[in-house]
Amino acid sequence: MSSSSPSSSPSPSYSEQAAVTDAPAVTVLGLGPMGRALASAFLAAGVRTTVWNRTPGRDTVLVGRGAIGARTVEEAVAGSPLTIVCVVNYDASDAVLRRDAVAAVLKGRTLVNLSADTPDRARDTGRWAAEHGIAYLDGAIMTPIPTIGTADGVFIHSGPADLYERHRPALEALGGTHTHLGEDIGRAAAYDIALLDIFWTAMTGYLHAVAVAKAEGISARELVPFARGIGEILPPIFDELGGDIDDGTFSGENNPITSTASTMAHIIHTSEAHGIEAGVMRAAEGLARRVIAAGHGTDGASRMAELLGRR
Ligand code: NDP
Repeated sequence: MSSSSPSSSPSPSYSEQAAVTDAPAVTVLGLGPMGRALASAFLAAGVRTTVWNRTPGRDTVLVGRGAIGARTVEEAVAGSPLTIVCVVNYDASDAVLRRDAVAAVLKGRTLVNLSADTPDRARDTGRWAAEHGIAYLDGAIMTPIPTIGTADGVFIHSGPADLYERHRPALEALGGTHTHLGEDIGRAAAYDIALLDIFWTAMTGYLHAVAVAKAEGISARELVPFARGIGEILPPIFDELGGDIDDGTFSGENNPITSTASTMAHIIHTSEAHGIEAGVMRAAEGLARRVIAAGHGTDGASRMAELLGRR
């Protein structure tokens, strides 16, 4: 339970204000870096914002800017028709929300979970919400803290389309781009997982590359301009391979997977010659070799997605 309010009495200000104004109102549960950024963006947009965090004291700056600091989750949820929860994962959001007293206050209101987790956890939360008469949207934030409240933020949402439309103006107060991906409540989390797969695999590749480059006497800063170049050639490759995979063509005309596997082997040999583990690249090379062994050596790297997807 958290509030920076020095007063020990329940916060009466929200319900008083709610009675006299039709201004949009949002509750934010979870005041880690992202929750604070969300609440800050709502305040900047003139949205009446009630906040709560498990550990007290994280709302001090927000309350100083006009947020209403609630002492309990129930009090926070009662403050707004729309509650956004943004905590580390769904174990945490379950700990915050899945209590009878909280569910009773949430009943008839809308909950949006912007915490990151798996599609199955989102669907499980959707079932819990339905059982308790809580309108529920799931979502994910695809951009870092500095983008929140700016045009650069990217938010994805899933769940009932009419519910999303009803709350879209409030969500858009966060700035950025908001996309409703479909009614399957797990769909936003599924996109989130796929996109984070790209991000963290790429990040792991970058960090491994820096370790190998340094072993060869190249500093991370020296590598950066060329690493950026590699980053920049990826988007058109995503376009091309995406079509290739959906269409089932797996074209290897310009770059057959035999050539890809050979390049991967060079990375492994160079790494291991320096005593640097190459487990990630070994896994990738093993996959490329499986594609070749399955008779697809003239196909492109896109065939790896098809092979991985085989049951
Ligand atoms: P964290 O992921 O570290 O989450 C911190 C928040 O989770 C705090 O409010 C913390 O409360 C709360 N929390 C953790 N465990 C519990 C628990 N058992 N019960 C109640 N509350 C708990 O930081 P962020 O705020 O950055 O991230 C929040 C979400 O946003 C995550 O799912 C993250 O993946 C996502 N996100 C974050 C981005 C970023 O750049 N930071 C970018 C995109 C998405 P307490 O203060 O009490 O510990």
